[in-house]
Amino acid sequence: MLYDHILIRYGELSLKGKNRKVFINQLHENVRHQLKDFPSVKIKSGRDRMSILLNGADPQAIIDICRFIFGIQSLSLAIKTENNEVAIKEAALYALKEVENVRTFKVTTKRGDKDFPIDSQTFNHVIGAHLLKNTENITVNVHQPDVEIHIDIRKGATFITSARYPGAGGLPVGTSGKSLLLLSGGIDSPVAGYLAMRRGVKIEAIHFHSPPYTSEASKQKVLDLAEKLAEFGHEVNVHIVPFTAMQQKIHREIPHGYSMTVMRRMMLKISEVVAKQRNILSITTGESLGQVASQTMESMHAINAVTAFPIIRPLIAIDKNAIIQTAKEIGTYPISIRPFEDCCTVFVPKAPKTKPKLDKVTCFESQLDLSHELDELLENIKVVTVFGNKSDDLMQDLF
Ligand code: ATP
Ligand code: MG
Repeated sequence: MLYDHILIRYGELSLKGKNRKVFINQLHENVRHQLKDFPSVKIKSGRDRMSILLNGADPQAIIDICRFIFGIQSLSLAIKTENNEVAIKEAALYALKEVENVRTFKVTTKRGDKDFPIDSQTFNHVIGAHLLKNTENITVNVHQPDVEIHIDIRKGATFITSARYPGAGGLPVGTSGKSLLLLSGGIDSPVAGYLAMRRGVKIEAIHFHSPPYTSEASKQKVLDLAEKLAEFGHEVNVHIVPFTAMQQKIHREIPHGYSMTVMRRMMLKISEVVAKQRNILSITTGESLGQVASQTMESMHAINAVTAFPIIRPLIAIDKNAIIQTAKEIGTYPISIRPFEDCCTVFVPKAPKTKPKLDKVTCFESQLDLSHELDELLENIKVVTVFGNKSDDLMQDLF
């Protein structure tokens, strides 16, 4: 006997009605997409869970992929049997023996099919006795068992499961619309992208690149970060913006204390144009209060005033230590700490204003015509699509 199914339990079970349907359909689609290299599997979605019929596919490989799909609360390997006692006994024994280092167990039966002749409580005892008789040095512990054998008797079939693997939680990517992520090569923005995705947001990324001040390696770094994010959902389009000419002009023409504020405002303005072209309704950044000069309240006020577009800042109130911890868990940290030049730091003045005044910013900007640089840059944005690559040692110790 072998495990022939994987059962997937949904996260956020409080979802009701139409939302629930959207949730389940999107999760189904995402699971199907991520398992496209396993053509033999069959995915079935029910109201309260999803089952994957393995048809010979390697169960562990599939669990390893599904653990990273948002919207999944937990997963279990399962054996499907007919609703008969002999078959269920055999499967339960197999499920128990498959788990290593077990000293205690408990059987929990759920009898959804009331035509099944034995009630749940009695059946727990029947199966428990069978397991005790056919194993050695294993006892029952109903309070804190090492393993819980679940027997789910439904109309037409019974599913037997033992170990539960935690899923990634959150909402299926695609259920909360799309956002354009401002992706730098730093630690924060990839984590911001990950958190937005976990709430169901599909992302595209935009990166401002200033060659020759920033190198090919720094661009590659951003693509590598995007690839990590793609592992949690669909492929990610990265819009690479050639920012050099505009930055040089800002650097030349704007009083130095204000050049960073203006540069940030231009980043948002350009992002808004790209978002609109792509039918994307929001922008996501890795900003976090108080980290650097651009992240004071005054600075955010002056920068944000350039757009009416909604800006999602998943990290705004998160401590740096916690951000670093998440970056390590999702595997972006080692990429983020590679040395690189950021287009912002290259041009950052020695003493940027930490409390820029909006009226001054707009006054300086009004004396500067950036329309030529803007047109030129918009025409030369390159889009690179990156796909998740699960073959490396992604997040081995996350769960
Ligand atoms: P990060 O760690 O994400 O680089 P940070 O702490 O360095 O953030 P800032 O340099 O102020 O903070 O950047 C704030 C946010 O602006 C970043 O999180 C990112 O969303 C965006 N950003 C900064 N530089 C770029 C860039 N070159 N391309 C795209 N977005 C950028
Ligand atoms: Mg940065």
